[in-house]
Amino acid sequence: MNPITSPSSPPAANTTGQSFAELPLSPALLATLNQLEYHTMTPIQAASLPITLAGHDLIAQAKTGSGKTAAFALALLSKINPRYFAVQAIVLCPTRELADQVTQEIRRLARFADNIKIISLCGGSTMRPQIASLEHGAHIVVGTPGRIMDHLQRDSLKLEALNTLVLDEADRMLDMGFYDDIAYVAKQCPLERQTVMFSATYPEGITRLARHFLHNPHEVKLLEKHETTKIRQRFYEISNEQRLEAVGLLLNHYRPVSTLAFCNTKQQCRDLLAILHAQGIHALTLNGDLEQRERDQVLIQFANRSCSVLVATDVAARGLDIAQLEAVINVDVTPDPEIHIHRIGRTGRADDEGWALSLCSHAEMRRVTSIAKMMDIEPEWHALTELRNVNVTALVPPMVTLQVLGGRKEKIRAGDVLGALTGEAGFTREQVGKITVTDQSTYVAVARNIARDAVRKLTAGKVKGKTVKVRALED
Ligand code: ADP
Ligand code: MG
Repeated sequence: MNPITSPSSPPAANTTGQSFAELPLSPALLATLNQLEYHTMTPIQAASLPITLAGHDLIAQAKTGSGKTAAFALALLSKINPRYFAVQAIVLCPTRELADQVTQEIRRLARFADNIKIISLCGGSTMRPQIASLEHGAHIVVGTPGRIMDHLQRDSLKLEALNTLVLDEADRMLDMGFYDDIAYVAKQCPLERQTVMFSATYPEGITRLARHFLHNPHEVKLLEKHETTKIRQRFYEISNEQRLEAVGLLLNHYRPVSTLAFCNTKQQCRDLLAILHAQGIHALTLNGDLEQRERDQVLIQFANRSCSVLVATDVAARGLDIAQLEAVINVDVTPDPEIHIHRIGRTGRADDEGWALSLCSHAEMRRVTSIAKMMDIEPEWHALTELRNVNVTALVPPMVTLQVLGGRKEKIRAGDVLGALTGEAGFTREQVGKITVTDQSTYVAVARNIARDAVRKLTAGKVKGKTVKVRALED
């Protein structure tokens, strides 16, 4: 299961959406889309699929959570020949997390033909198992540019049969210094191929990539619509001394289950985390110092609702597909109104309403003026004194994450853990939340009030016929 995405939470509702049935897709693929409850295309899918399915190169821009993965995955899947055991498509992503999300989404979509093999090749994992998977034959490779380049240089990956190259989040890959690696990979691909590039912004490097590696690309740009109807936006005037304390006041007042709090700097993330912890709020942060496993755990806990607040910078939060976000808090107002719009677009997705709360000092007023102008809104100002939370119990997340030692390597599946909890242990399906299986561990969210009992019963019982070690991921 995907640690971050939730197939049951579609992106921005689009009532006027077109049906996938209008596209030249196989009946089996259409049936899979139906099973996944993808009934209508998202705007980026409707705009790009006719182009990519016709075989053209594409450069496209759309916001996070708009369904870009399926937009390129359907095009590449429709060209895969499962009987031909060679890599026919490559997707380059900036980070392992994003590569994992993309791999999971392509796997879901590839269910219509159960013999399409998709592997993920990212840095941070050992080479040998990757080489072994490649030797077994793969149709689609998803990965980070550096690691894919390594495989090409060692000849463990061959691209003669490739027909589709996808660059996902290309601007971010450039930010991370991957230009040369991308260029290297692109040069190893056959000239006769389709190249599809997604990018949120168009810095100079993007134009350069497009000029060198795309062939007469069509361009699709979906400017962000400000769905102000679903995002309730409020600005709180504060002094700099009040700023970090104010975040806790907002949380206890609005009581959102999941909140993404944006900071402008890493230091501010650390300071805010310390203050939230002191206030008894379950908060976690993503930063570059975390090991991959720790990052996974942070994202899993946030996505399965066992952590109330994820504190992050724009860079750390980019591209994360987190469904069900009740609130976004801007700990300070960003100078760039586009970034502001991008940040608050994380809430109020699907049919839910969301809060966008911004803390603004006197010096930042000008920034709000330019945001208001760009969004064509009248900013709604509030004072901290309106937030009365005397005697309110601190915000507590509804779930707790349990870590079961044992994952894909031990052939544990989500159903095994669900079965153990609802079988012998006697819990109900409703008390069990998201289950995420990683290589070494399985993470299961359970209702907070049964957490201790669940640890005890899982430890005493068996998962897939074996005794397992289990612990709760909090004190
Ligand atoms: P992006 O790459 O644009 O940030 P994703 O491709 O990760 O967005 O998609 C966001 C979420 O929307 C995923 O959980 C995905 O399963 C879901 N999704 C994509 N297309 C559709 C669709 N047509 N209908 C319903 N849900 C969809
Ligand atoms: Mg994406």
